[in-house]
Amino acid sequence: MSEANEVREIRINPIVPSESVLVATARSMRPKKAEALAPRDTRKHVETCPFCRGNEDRTPPQILTYPASGDWHIRIVENLYPVLGDERNQPNFSFGLQQTIDGYGRHEVIIDHFEHGTAVHDMSTDHLSMLFGAYRDRMAQIFASDARLKYVLVFKNFGPAAGASIPHTHSQVIAMPVVPENVQNEVNNSHEYFHKHHHCIFCALIDEALTFEATIYDRNSGEVRRKIDVGQYVVERGEKFIAIKPFASRFEWEVHILPLSHQADFLAINDTDLADLAAVLKRTMARLEAVIGGAQYNYFLHSVPHDEHTGEHAASYHWHLEICPRTSIPTGFELGSGLFVNTISPEAAAAQLRAATI
Ligand SMILES: [Zn+2]
Ligand SMILES: [Zn+2]
Ligand SMILES: [Zn+2]
Repeated sequence: MSEANEVREIRINPIVPSESVLVATARSMRPKKAEALAPRDTRKHVETCPFCRGNEDRTPPQILTYPASGDWHIRIVENLYPVLGDERNQPNFSFGLQQTIDGYGRHEVIIDHFEHGTAVHDMSTDHLSMLFGAYRDRMAQIFASDARLKYVLVFKNFGPAAGASIPHTHSQVIAMPVVPENVQNEVNNSHEYFHKHHHCIFCALIDEALTFEATIYDRNSGEVRRKIDVGQYVVERGEKFIAIKPFASRFEWEVHILPLSHQADFLAINDTDLADLAAVLKRTMARLEAVIGGAQYNYFLHSVPHDEHTGEHAASYHWHLEICPRTSIPTGFELGSGLFVNTISPEAAAAQLRAATI
């Protein structure tokens, strides 16, 4: 990449402006220390693994299986080491400025696949569709079971640095008595945008990703500073879903998947749409695998808080899946400034992902 094409700018997250990213592709910013690749374990069955089919007696109590009878493909169990516990009467020890909230909640493990080392891009679309259907159904059941639970976060960690302690492919469900701050920030800011512009900011971002075309010139020299082309941020698209590279990506290979038509609540997804989501996710993960094979990653679902799913946030919020591959270790600069540093321009990363052969 020539000197002229280097990007060095602070990009403001359009949805959460307090979150910004320094995109610095100059050689001096590289290399940040690279995160190791996740150990490759493609075995189908591991005798000693508690999550493998046949070892059901070695997991904490089972909650559900998919399908409900016969050989299971997906299995939901309680978490052996819950982050938030189910005790009903936890004392609250708030004192002075040391305010606490009861650590009340639910923590469950979803064993994504009966085979030990099957990666997401290797799962069939039918299976992925069943998996996201399991996320949806379990979230709904948890909300219905306890009105004190305000948010259910579904996420997946792949690789030890991404937080996965058990190598068998799995996701987690954490139900919380509060809405996490980053979700609340998205909800509040998108609501503010809606008040000003009368449409959803996520829908606007999708439209921009699909149709925007512009050239930004330098005010003084008249040189082209940035060219925005049609579809520049699009990584994949299906009939109902789109995978885009955020303009202010915090992580080099971060990709978000959103429904093309406005939908605030993930719980509202129907089975036909699940199939399209599964196909878009599979192809997106295959592209990531082709470009940064074996990278550790997290993905998580952001949906409108349940208490607000029929309120005014239903028009302003738009659910999405954020996929965040961990290819480098955060530096002191990032932790100290709160500014993420991205060393690959999101436009270049999107182009590379699109060009990958899958
Ligand atoms: Zn296993
Ligand atoms: Zn929308
Ligand atoms: Zn989000």
